[in-house]
Amino acid sequence: MDNWLIKRAQLTPDRLAVHYQDTRLTFAQMKDRVLKLASQLAVYTQNQERVAVITSNNLQGYLMILAVQQLGKTVVLINRRLAAREIDFQLKDAAINVVVQDDDFNLTLSNVQQLTFAKISDTTVVDTITPVSDFDLEKVTSIMYTSGTTGNPKGVMQTFGNHFYSAVGSALNLGIMPNDVWLAVVPIFHISGLSIMMRSLIYGMGVRLVEKFDVQKINDILLAGEVTTISVVPMMLTRLLAALPTNTQYHRNFRTMLLGGGPTDLTTLQKATNAGIEVVQSYGMTETASQVIALDAANAPRKIGSAGQPLLPVSLRIAHPDNKQHGRIQIKSPTLAVGYLNQPEKYADSFEDGWFDTGDMGWIDDEGFLYIDGREGDMISSGGENVFPDEIESAYAELSEIAQIAVVGVPDEKWGAVPIAFITFKDNNVLSQEALRDFGREMLAHYKVPARFYQLDEFPRTASGKVQRHKLMDVMSHATLIN
Ligand code: ATP
Ligand code: MG
Repeated sequence: MDNWLIKRAQLTPDRLAVHYQDTRLTFAQMKDRVLKLASQLAVYTQNQERVAVITSNNLQGYLMILAVQQLGKTVVLINRRLAAREIDFQLKDAAINVVVQDDDFNLTLSNVQQLTFAKISDTTVVDTITPVSDFDLEKVTSIMYTSGTTGNPKGVMQTFGNHFYSAVGSALNLGIMPNDVWLAVVPIFHISGLSIMMRSLIYGMGVRLVEKFDVQKINDILLAGEVTTISVVPMMLTRLLAALPTNTQYHRNFRTMLLGGGPTDLTTLQKATNAGIEVVQSYGMTETASQVIALDAANAPRKIGSAGQPLLPVSLRIAHPDNKQHGRIQIKSPTLAVGYLNQPEKYADSFEDGWFDTGDMGWIDDEGFLYIDGREGDMISSGGENVFPDEIESAYAELSEIAQIAVVGVPDEKWGAVPIAFITFKDNNVLSQEALRDFGREMLAHYKVPARFYQLDEFPRTASGKVQRHKLMDVMSHATLIN
């Protein structure tokens, strides 16, 4: 396939490509900036097959990721918020020699050359490089690490073909409008953000790049109708809703809020619907190059709580269903990454009869809509019943005193395992054990009601804001038993 950036600059040179702070670049302008950067970057990366980029959501980093692509090299995206030790692990894993980084990134990393964006853009070059002529659909263009919610992050190898089919699948569900501008405040070093960059090239769509999740600022942009689409994780939706004045609606230009990355409780979804926000629930992972399951707008109100149906290029099955039809979520998709870096066995182990096992559990209703129970590893087997933390957390989210709740299973002599809950409260509105238990008994089967409740000040989270359930037992000593 032709090089997407060059083709875009040819097809729609004057359309908005990216808008960051006060800078707006058309596709023609962006192409010139990227090719210049690529020429400068080439000076330092001649023998390198891969280049690592460490950036927040800023224009320099955005252009740099595209510049690496133009050189035909693989970009390794590193989460800026990780500790030096964690980054060193990933750089070594990906055999990186050259790291290009934000000017204000101040960690010293081991055994690599670290170049700031300023250093690269100050480099004098005589000739502009010739960009790669094709984007080979089989070529691995990006490597990014999974969030590490369940353990050590895995380096996921994504091809141009993965990104292409992902963009097409999304467009066939959400549609494309000529005036579309997609707000990217989700990190461009995760698939949620990188997939927006790739859609921009493929659709000829503008991206509004925002560095920090400032809830007021994002609401202002949505209210002013400056963008048509935004990707959010559940925590962002909750905060946007909390800050949105009552009886206020987003601008009519704004059409879709793509929500994914983790479970969202029904209370929050209902609030969003009441506020007139068209939330498109979706499900995907780094390994599937973003969403593979999504709810279409027409069905969203009717199927609240569902992650939706497989996008056109995607096939879905539930393997090993129990008698209630709950089982393992498995997929086939041209968006499926081609491997875990240096862990071919782990990758091979993820397949069953040619289907990729997501590690998540769920069920499909008789109209083909997927409902996600949660991660297999989080499942609690209590007295012969399978309990998923997500369901318990979702029920408790109705209590307005609770800021965040996370449930894990602990061994129990009588039941095998029982759920326990960790809670942070809003404004120190601590609820009693009795109140929490009574509420649970009203809402849930008795075996799902947490046996104990602990109060926490803060949750262990990944850099993308996901609660790391497997670390909760380690922070137990900082928690207070509620009685
Ligand atoms: P790691 O694989 O390193 O443990 P991770 O799985 O959190 O990290 P990602 O690829 O960023 O890394 O996240 C994908 C996971 O997020 C999915 O496998 C699923 O568990 C969860 N997830 C995504 N979307 C949804 C959703 N709509 N509802 C429930 N869970 C979701
Ligand atoms: Mg995962």
